[in-house]
Amino acid sequence: MSLLQIRGLQKSFGGVKAVDGIDFDVAAGELLALIGPNGAGKSTTFNMVNGQLRASGGSVKLDGRELVGLKPREIWKMGVGRTFQIAETFASLTVVENVQMALISSHGKLYSLWSRAASAYRNEALELLDQVGMKADADRPCSALAYGDVKRVELAIALANDPKLLLMDEPTAGMAPKERNDLMALTKRLVVERKLAVLFTEHSMDVVFAYADRMIVLARGRLIAAGSGEEIRNHPKVQEVYFGT
Ligand code: ADP
Ligand code: MG
Repeated sequence: MSLLQIRGLQKSFGGVKAVDGIDFDVAAGELLALIGPNGAGKSTTFNMVNGQLRASGGSVKLDGRELVGLKPREIWKMGVGRTFQIAETFASLTVVENVQMALISSHGKLYSLWSRAASAYRNEALELLDQVGMKADADRPCSALAYGDVKRVELAIALANDPKLLLMDEPTAGMAPKERNDLMALTKRLVVERKLAVLFTEHSMDVVFAYADRMIVLARGRLIAAGSGEEIRNHPKVQEVYFGT
């Protein structure tokens, strides 16, 4: 059975059908790209999976359990993570402190004093930073890091909850080609090593074809194609949407 099963998923905003009845599965250990032109419904789909938006219809199951109707925190606790941008208030904290905060939040313990929390989970946080290649920068403030490195720390923060499925909406936006490739290579390695499932959106077709195991193409809220790079590249409906041929 697939890790995630999406069936007949829909979302309407007033009269606009942002997502119009889509079906797809995500397997453990799979790096799956959700692509399509602007306004296709990619972000809306993500937001229904993580519970930020309530679906107008259809079903999203994780390991056979229905997610539609659950609160975002409940869905997160079940193992659906997403990458969040490090907020301004946390940028002054060090890299390792940001990951420790994420571990504390994930383990659900309340610490009234930062001084107690400061030593908590340091080793676990360093281990996660090692996995994303940021251990050497552990004690630097996040505000001092290059953009690509901040993205690695954000990935470590997302891993702190030990997700089964990670949603990444345009993770490489604003990155130079080298940073972009480094982040995707890292993501691919995490998918393989942790048997993590990753669903991501990405504008660059070069990146998608280089890294995704499989791709799902949306246009105007509908799924128009799904398959391997080769299948998608030669798919007539995809050609029509992307190249107007
Ligand atoms: P994508 O991420 O693929 O660019 P979105 O999921 O953001 O697309 O948007 C899909 C469609 O839904 C668009 O037509 C967009 O204008 C509309 N939409 C998205 N969010 C809202 C909202 N909160 N209220 C009204 N319309 C929305
Ligand atoms: Mg979007």
